[in-house]
Order: sequence, then structure tokens, then C-alpha cells
Amino acid sequence: MNHGKPIYVTQPVLPPLEQFLPYLEKIWASKILTNAGPFHEQFEDALCRYLGVEQVSLFTNCTIGLITALQALNIQGEVITTPYSFVATAHALLWNRLTPKFVDIDPQTLNIDPRQIEAAITPSTTAILAVHCYGHPCDVHAIERIARKHGLRVIYDAAHAFGVELAGRSVLEHGDLSILSFHATKVFNTFEGGAIVSPDAGMKRHLDHLKNFGFVDEVTVVTAGINGKMSEFNAALGLLQLQGVDAAIERRRQIDHRYREGLRGIDGIDCVGPSGESRPNHAYFPILVRPHFPRARDALYQSLLDNGVIARRYFYPLISSFGMYSQMASAQPENLPQATQVASQVICLPIYPALEDDQVDRVIELIAMAGQSR
Ligand SMILES: *Cc1c(COP(=O)(O)O)cnc(C)c1O
Repeated sequence: MNHGKPIYVTQPVLPPLEQFLPYLEKIWASKILTNAGPFHEQFEDALCRYLGVEQVSLFTNCTIGLITALQALNIQGEVITTPYSFVATAHALLWNRLTPKFVDIDPQTLNIDPRQIEAAITPSTTAILAVHCYGHPCDVHAIERIARKHGLRVIYDAAHAFGVELAGRSVLEHGDLSILSFHATKVFNTFEGGAIVSPDAGMKRHLDHLKNFGFVDEVTVVTAGINGKMSEFNAALGLLQLQGVDAAIERRRQIDHRYREGLRGIDGIDCVGPSGESRPNHAYFPILVRPHFPRARDALYQSLLDNGVIARRYFYPLISSFGMYSQMASAQPENLPQATQVASQVICLPIYPALEDDQVDRVIELIAMAGQSR
């Protein structure tokens, strides 16, 4: 039944190789490979312009960015976060010896539910680490209100949110810091990479020291920094990749639309939509397989696999179910009923710019057929 090549959940966007060669020639000629070289500086400026933000610090990846962001804000004690994300979100807390406090998600947005946050606040709580899951913005205003009322910091894991706007402005302007990922699987990639968006130049300077061992100048080390620097290779690629990102997001939008139209009539399949943002990036195409669909989620997932469609169950299992978290009181499924249910129903369908219309139609057809059979 498997016709042709497998269709993966994503496929990285790359520029034509010949367009990258002149960048490599410059690096070879200059012998500047890293440490805030010319491509690093140009890429930071270009990102600020593209994203519409004031300050960007490039990082080697998002996970080191998250760990460094928590250091930069000197976060202590307990941090309220979501179980419904990639495991790096909570791991960044453990690497800082912080205690994650998991709270449930909103069943519509699949983001942390602001109504659950206040009940989880204790005298040890210092911050909220939220995720714009699938690039769909959190309820940033509600989170901001709670944070202000209780004197908490807000950090957004914005790994999915490249280019996302809310009411005409970058969603990355919200919170104390937002952290992007440029990993191969994301909407915008530099092979590996990441960045922290900060509101002011002082914080950016602090982050730039932290990512470079704490060096301020040749002989001065002001903080116990790490090596989180982005190399010239990745920065040069990022600079070139920016030229194609609008076209890539536009193609993702068309695929999103085709899926929505094609899946509309299938009883028991719900498409997860962004709510209220003016510019989504269509990073993922999650569907929820409801209990009245004739096949269970895992059966549908398997039948897609059997037909060469390698969809993924992001985010199953929940972070809170992994051994390093599962004993915590807040990690218990009774505390997280919505997240537990969504994790058992979700499938992310293939979406990437090179995916063709007939491949999208085949995925829709496979789901439709599964919906007719027992
Ligand atoms: C991909 C991802 C990360 C990790 O990004 P890296 O750049 O690979 O370190 C963190 N959080 C979320 C939500 C992600 O999807």
C-alpha cells in the first residue's frame, strides 16, 4: 500500500547550495569562524529587522538559550510551566536546579491555562515559563496580569514562534525574555541555532557576556558564563535563509488551508487552530482524534505509518510523565486532565514548504478512509 517515498512530518528548508558558497568563501578568506564575527553581527541586525524586535542575542541552540535566560534573570525556587511541550522546556529548569510546577493547558489553545496559574503559586514561585505551542500565541495579557500581581518573571519558550505576530506586532515582545530555536526541524533553520529576544540593550549585553564565558574584554570575566555562541557558519546560513522565509511561510499557509478544507467533513477529527493572531507561521498541523472517530489515535498513527506517512504525536508523552518529573505532585495526571487527554489524541500531520498538493491530498484520503473503516 506504500506508494513512493515516505512523507515525513517535516523536511528542512535549504537554499540552493551555490548561493551559500560565496558566504563560505568569505569565511575561509577571513579565517573568522566564531566569537561575534561579521556574519554574526549582520545576522543579529537582520533578525531584529525581520522580527520587528529591538534586541536579539544569537545562541548555539534554543536549549542553551533557555538555560542562559533563566541564569540571566537569576530565577530561583519554583517555576510554573506546561507539561505539553518538547522536553527541553522543563529540562532547562532542572539544569538550573529549579523546581518545575506543572499546570494544565487550555483545551482550545493547548497553551498553559492562565486560570490554573494562580492556584499553583507558592511563596517559592519566582517565574512562569510558558510555550507558544505550535506557534500559537499564549494568552500573553492574562499571563502578564498574573505575573505583575505576584511579582513573577515571564519567560517564553518561543521555539515554535518564529515570525508570529499578535495584533500586528511580534509575539516575541511579550514577557521578560523569549527564546527562539533555529533547529533543522523548525520553520526557520540555521542547521542548529537559537536566539534570545530581550527588551533592552542592558539585558542583551548581559546575555552576550553569559554566552561567552562571562568575558567582557580580554582580561575581565564578570560572571560564570557558558559557551553558547553561534558560529559564523550558522550565522551566514541564517542570513541567507532569511531571504526565503516569507515564501516558506506562505507555502505552509496554503498547505494548512488545504488540510483544513479536506479534513472539514471528517467526523471525529478536529484541526487545532491559532486563535486571534494576525500572522501565524503554520509551524505544525496538529489534529485531535476524538473518541468517536472509528479508529483510536494510535491506530490511525500506525495506519499512516504503514502507508508511508511519518506523522508525529507531538506532544505525547507529556513531559510530566518522564521519570525525572513523574514523582512530582504537580506532574500527576489528575492535576493535568486536559493535557493528558490532548496528548492521547494528537497527531501532527506533515507540513513543510516542499510538500506537494497531491501528497497533502493523500494524507487527507488516508485519514478519510480510516474514518470509514473499523
Ligand atoms: C525544538 C524545541 C526546543 C529545543 O530547541 P533546540 O534549538 O533544538 O535546542 C525547545 N522547546 C521547544 C518547544 C521546541 O520545540
